[in-house]
Amino acid sequence: MREMVHDPEILAAYNEDALGIKGKFKGLFRPDSETEVIDIVRSCVSKKLSLTPQGLRSSLTGAAICEKGAALSLERMNRLIDIDVERKVAVIEPGIILSDFKKSVEEAGLMYAPDPTSARECTLGGNVATNASGSRSLKYGATINWVRGLRIVDGKGRVLELKNGLTEKMCAGYGALYRPTQLFVGSEGTLGVVTRIEVSLTELPANLFVGIVFFPDIKSAIDFTIEAQYNPAYKAASMEFLDQMCLEIIRPEAKGIAIPPDARAMIYFEQEYNDDSEKDYFLNLWFPLIEKHTPFSDDTQIADSPKEKKHLYDLRHYVPSKTNEESIKVIKTGGCKISTDWAVPHNRLHRLFGYFEEIRGPLADMMVIRFGHLGSGHPHFNFMARTREEKIIASEIDNLMATKAVSLGGCVSAEHGIGKMKRRQLALQYPAPIIGAMKALKKELDPAGIMAPGNIFMNDNDDTVPLPL
Ligand SMILES: Cc1cc2nc3c(=O)[nH]c(=O)nc-3n(C[C@H](O)[C@H](O)[C@H](O)COP(=O)(O)OP(=O)(O)OC[C@H]3O[C@@H](n4cnc5c(N)ncnc54)[C@H](O)[C@@H]3O)c2cc1C
Repeated sequence: MREMVHDPEILAAYNEDALGIKGKFKGLFRPDSETEVIDIVRSCVSKKLSLTPQGLRSSLTGAAICEKGAALSLERMNRLIDIDVERKVAVIEPGIILSDFKKSVEEAGLMYAPDPTSARECTLGGNVATNASGSRSLKYGATINWVRGLRIVDGKGRVLELKNGLTEKMCAGYGALYRPTQLFVGSEGTLGVVTRIEVSLTELPANLFVGIVFFPDIKSAIDFTIEAQYNPAYKAASMEFLDQMCLEIIRPEAKGIAIPPDARAMIYFEQEYNDDSEKDYFLNLWFPLIEKHTPFSDDTQIADSPKEKKHLYDLRHYVPSKTNEESIKVIKTGGCKISTDWAVPHNRLHRLFGYFEEIRGPLADMMVIRFGHLGSGHPHFNFMARTREEKIIASEIDNLMATKAVSLGGCVSAEHGIGKMKRRQLALQYPAPIIGAMKALKKELDPAGIMAPGNIFMNDNDDTVPLPL
């Protein structure tokens, strides 16, 4: 069995997530194989030592950081086992970096669709454990739609081999488990360790153009998004939103893109097409819609060459990295970035943005950066809390918005997961017996309660606002 690493210099590197949240832990395991994972789990059960699995710690909820016990990094289990082009199926180990895997699949002429912005800094295992999604999830859905099979080492050290049934019809027990892999998607390390993943692949889109459109206010950007989403003629692969603060963040990077000084919002969208006539068809569809919703239609940029597309993509994706850098700065002053992760049906977006204006008073001059997956009804509001007091205020605004989202048919977390920061919000989403059933399931798979303590469920001694560690 791999020995536990105790070297403080090595440990320091595994004790911080992308937000800069730190935890408390005694040591680190870095297994190279499933057999080693089994040995480590069994030994931890006998020693009553908790174990928190880690991918690359890009989680934004403290989920990968230990509350106690030891960390189990899957980074060495990063092999690409097989790409079966004919069946459009790939098998991988959990520690493979998402962008490396996507590149290998593309070289084989296919696509693995889930595309979180963090593709270069996250693993497939982490994606499964958080049901990661990205801008193209608007068209292709989240990780859960792409997982076909999993091997799991549960909290007792037993291996479970799970395959989703391939039939359209099924009636064998509880419907929620007809695709048993789905039980482990979003489990955030609490039920066991994902040691092998089988995913579906799809065709690469023939072609794609990218557009960025500027708006004088957020309302117009939402109206534009709603109309494009509810009219089936438009088939955007992604519709991403940046607010005015984001426009200021990207302005120095814009290089050749004129951002109108009076713009208060931007939508980045992607449209796939097969041939030139289809491209013309889509352009003729998008331009009247753009003209209808913004006086800045002449400032619209359409990119079709790989270089131009990359520039627009990079501009959109620059914002989250920059925001997380800000988070690391405010953590040093006792604060933290608190981000919403709620989602609502598109036609309720105006109500959530309006509600925010009603309740934002206590934030005073705290920096608020809003961006994200508007096409999926899922923008992130990021509050840059500079002190512990501001963290409490921002957490309360986050909780109020999550409550409102659920009351409007939405959810408290659409992609980052519950982790440690949002465990109070689980009860906003589900009735107590359903949370009880989740805990009973955890007890069955992890009877010693060693797996990822502090993730998803409240601790007995939690105060009312669980803050970053
Ligand atoms: C700049 C930036 C942009 C981001 N953009 C997106 C985005 O667009 N969409 C999105 O969904 N997320 C996004 N994220 C969040 C993050 O990248 C995802 O949650 C990602 O899936 C985490 O992967 P990871 O390998 O870093 O996992 P970690 O952060 O290390 O772990 C996340 C959780 O998974 C568990 N886990 C990890 N590996 C395993 C395993 N093998 N078995 C069992 N449990 C495991 C951990 O215990 C933890 O609970 C972003 C993060 C950053 C920093």
